[in-house]
Amino acid sequence: MPIRTIDDLGDLSGKTVILRADFNVPLKNGVIGDDTRLKATLPTIEALLKKNARIVMLSHLGRPDGQPNTAYSLQPVAEALAALLGRAVAFTPDCLTTPDEGDLVLMENLRFYAEEEKNDRAFAEKLAAHGDIFVNDAFSTAHRAHASTHALAQLRPACAGLLMAAEIRALDAALENPERPVAAVVGGAKVSTKLDVLTHLIKKTDLLILGGGMANTFLAAQGFAVGKSLHEADMLDTARRIISEAEAQNCRLVLPLDVVVAEEFAENAPSSCVDVNAIAAEKMALDLGTKSIQHIISALESCKTVLWNGPLGAFEIKPFDAATVAVAQYVAQRTQKGSLTSIAGGGDTVAALAAANAKDGFSYVSTAGGAFLEWIEGKTLPAIAVLEDAAKAA
Ligand code: AMP
Repeated sequence: MPIRTIDDLGDLSGKTVILRADFNVPLKNGVIGDDTRLKATLPTIEALLKKNARIVMLSHLGRPDGQPNTAYSLQPVAEALAALLGRAVAFTPDCLTTPDEGDLVLMENLRFYAEEEKNDRAFAEKLAAHGDIFVNDAFSTAHRAHASTHALAQLRPACAGLLMAAEIRALDAALENPERPVAAVVGGAKVSTKLDVLTHLIKKTDLLILGGGMANTFLAAQGFAVGKSLHEADMLDTARRIISEAEAQNCRLVLPLDVVVAEEFAENAPSSCVDVNAIAAEKMALDLGTKSIQHIISALESCKTVLWNGPLGAFEIKPFDAATVAVAQYVAQRTQKGSLTSIAGGGDTVAALAAANAKDGFSYVSTAGGAFLEWIEGKTLPAIAVLEDAAKAA
C-alpha cells in the first residue's frame, strides 16, 4: 500500500497525535442509536495509546451547517468512548482552542465552523496546532476534501489509522490487485445512480452480475416487457451501451433468467416466479427467481474474488429477500471455507447482508457509504491521495 499507517510509527512518548475519526453516529436527544463507528475506531485509539501518544480526536457529526448547535454536540460521544475504553476522555467545547490537559481528548464538532467543509487552510492551521502528527481514520469522509481530512494532512506528518488502512486494503484486494476471476454483484434500485459504478466495474472485473430494480432496466433494454416493474425507460440506450462495452472489455454480464413478480409492493403479496419473457403487464418484478439464483451461483463457482454492492431484490419485504439471502449466504460460506475473498459496501448493502445473516461471513464489509461508492466508481478520494503524497514525501 503506498501510504503509511500507524504501524509504521515508533514510540510516541511526548508526542500528540491529531486523530481524525468518524464519530458521526446516529444521535437522538443526546442518546447514541448505534455505536458501530465508535467501536470501529477503538483499535486505532488503543494502538496509539500503547505507543504512549497523547491523542486529540477530531470528528464531524451530522450537518450543523457551519454553526454551533447543541443538537450536534459530540459530548455524548466523549462519554460513550470513555465507557468503551474504560478510561477518561476529556471533552473540549470547541475544536479550535488547543487543549492543555488530558491524554485522550475529544474536541467539539468540526462542522460548527463553515471553514471545515471549505478545506480552509487557515482553519486547518489552527487544527494542526493541537499536535505533532496527523492520523486519519475516517475512511467514510475520504471522498471529500475538507480541512480536517485534506489541508490538515499537508501540515503535519500524515498517515492512516487502522480502520482506514483496512478499508484501503479491502478495496485494493477487490479492485486493484484481486485474485482472478473477479466478479461484481451489483443490485439496487436504479441504473442512473450506479452508472459510474457499472462503467468502471466492467473495466475491472471478469464477471458482472446484475440484480434488483436496475436489472429490470437491462431486461427492458433487451426488448422484454417488464410490466409495472421499477425500471428507467430513459436509460435503455445507456443499458445497451453498457452491454456492448462489457462485451468489448471481456466482462461477462449475468442478467436474470427469471424473476419473482407480484401485483403490489407489499409484505407477503401473492407472488410467482416467471421467466423474463413472461412478465405480465399488471405485475412487477421484485426479486430474482430460482433459475437466476442458480445461474448466479454457478457463475460465481470459479471466482476467487467478489465485490458486492446493492440488494438483488426488494429485500426489506418478504419474500422478496430470497435471492439476496441465497446468494449472500453462498458467498459467505465460500468465504468461510477460504476459497473466496468477498468485499461488500455502499448504501443499503450492509443492511441487506445483515438481514441475510451473511454479513459476518464476508471477508470485509465497509461501513462507509459514499466513499466506498466513489472508490468503486474509480474516482480519486482526496483524503487518501493526500496520504499517498505524504508517504512519497516521507
Ligand atoms: P440502492 O440504494 O440503489 O442500492 O437500492 C436499494 C433499494 O432498491 C432497496 O430499497 C430495495 O428495496 C430496492 N430494490 C431492489 N430491487 C428492487 C426491485 N426489483 N423493485 C423495486 N425495488 C427494488
